Amino acid sequence: MKILIVEDEKKVASFIKRGLADENYDVAVSHDGVDGLKQALNGDFNLVILDVSLPKKDGIAVVNELRAAGSRVPVLMLTARDTTEDVVAGLDAGSDDYLTKPFAFAELQARVRALIRRGEQDRGAEIRFADLRLDPVSHQVWRGQTEIALTAKEYALLAYMVRNAENVLSRANIADNCWEYPFETFTNIIDVYINYLRKKVDGKFPTKLIHTVRGKGYILKEG
Ligand code: CA
Repeated sequence: MKILIVEDEKKVASFIKRGLADENYDVAVSHDGVDGLKQALNGDFNLVILDVSLPKKDGIAVVNELRAAGSRVPVLMLTARDTTEDVVAGLDAGSDDYLTKPFAFAELQARVRALIRRGEQDRGAEIRFADLRLDPVSHQVWRGQTEIALTAKEYALLAYMVRNAENVLSRANIADNCWEYPFETFTNIIDVYINYLRKKVDGKFPTKLIHTVRGKGYILKEG
């Protein structure tokens, strides 16, 4: 996950950078609006943390130009205290969220997580659980390095399970979300599909992911 910080106050920038690097984000820093915009447009970042008050080009102008250029990268704006106008202008220009200085790192962390998650859904980024990866655009599926070929219905079922991993899913939940028609009368079709998935997804792998919860339904979990 790549994050760009555009912040001219070097202390603040390095405080954020250190904290996020500790969380295993790949962090780049820019100290002015012109360079920040250039990096944001060229860097394929998952998130931009953008100070409003910047030399050369302010944060509002940066986010404006970013959106005008078609970039949908999530933007978290940093504003000084008591600048409601900045906040409104920033959100109008197309930033996704804001944080008022000074802030606790935990607050920043929570915003960063939420924005990256939202951004991934927008980008159609891979969905993952354990060593399982699903590409929502191509519908390709891998476990580790092994590609697993699934039918469209199997893919829909697995994607639903991955999105709700570690939750027990009843047959009714599965029917509602993966089949377009009412299913009460023949829920055993779901069991059949679960068995297809088991063979393909768990078959030769030592760690089983698809588990039956007796009397309740199914769960995707490790071990
Ligand atoms: Ca500043």
